[in-house]
Amino acid sequence: MENNRKIRFGPAGNSDSFYEQGYKSSVDMPKWLHEKGLSAYEYACTHGVNISEKTARAIGEEAGMYDIALSIHAPYYINLAAEDPEKRDKTKRHLLDSMQVADWMGAKRVVFHPGSCAKMDRKKAFKTAVGFLQEIICDAREYIEKGIHLCPETMGKINQLGTVDEVLEMCRLHESLIPVLDFGHINAMGRGRIKSYTDYMDIMNLVKNALGRDRMRHFHCHFSRVEYTGGGEKKHWTLDDVQYGPEFEPLAELIVSLDLKPIIICESRGTMAEDAVRLKSIFDKKLSIQS
Ligand SMILES: [Zn+2]
Repeated sequence: MENNRKIRFGPAGNSDSFYEQGYKSSVDMPKWLHEKGLSAYEYACTHGVNISEKTARAIGEEAGMYDIALSIHAPYYINLAAEDPEKRDKTKRHLLDSMQVADWMGAKRVVFHPGSCAKMDRKKAFKTAVGFLQEIICDAREYIEKGIHLCPETMGKINQLGTVDEVLEMCRLHESLIPVLDFGHINAMGRGRIKSYTDYMDIMNLVKNALGRDRMRHFHCHFSRVEYTGGGEKKHWTLDDVQYGPEFEPLAELIVSLDLKPIIICESRGTMAEDAVRLKSIFDKKLSIQS
């Protein structure tokens, strides 16, 4: 297992305030995050893998200096259920390019969205996706052996692949895969199913039953408040937008009581780093009460 023995908090991408303070380059993020007491950073390649080797290595060096665990969010355009050969080629390229960037940066986790059902029957789309992921895992062997983990994410829209069960089934393909539990998405997909400690516990039990206790403990977590409609996820909000769920407190309590060791990435809109600090302080409070 990678050396993530502490629970880490950090943002997905760069907060608005980072740019408002005059910063322009993500190379400055690790120090900026460290000064806020954070220790994780999910670098966004969501609109394509365009970062140079030089910049990737520079971010990696800074992250090493300031003890920031890096992950990469792979492009949104990935669709493991695609049948068109050209689209399949692109999906594979996006994932392997993201792993290449991870290798340059020293990032250990590559997060990706599995894909969409489009007009396909869900079972057929999922079967296609699993078969293709198996093939990509073989092609990615070199990176996997270097300790880079592919991490399929639970999705928020009904027509996307990525229910909790689907993500866990994908993770069963290879022991190095790490599930990304995006609780805002899970809550949106289930139209508000996460309300309590027990609701979070039920999800973690599914993970434990599918992958065992050790892999369950080291999951990757996305957290933000997400608005939803009948079709699932509509929009990510901030921690202050309390009309949207889910709540972090019961999850923090569960993390303490089950001694989980996730990396927690906050995906609030615009204030992801500030909200990551708030998640951390909610967690620290739970920890001090229970210990
Ligand atoms: Zn995502």
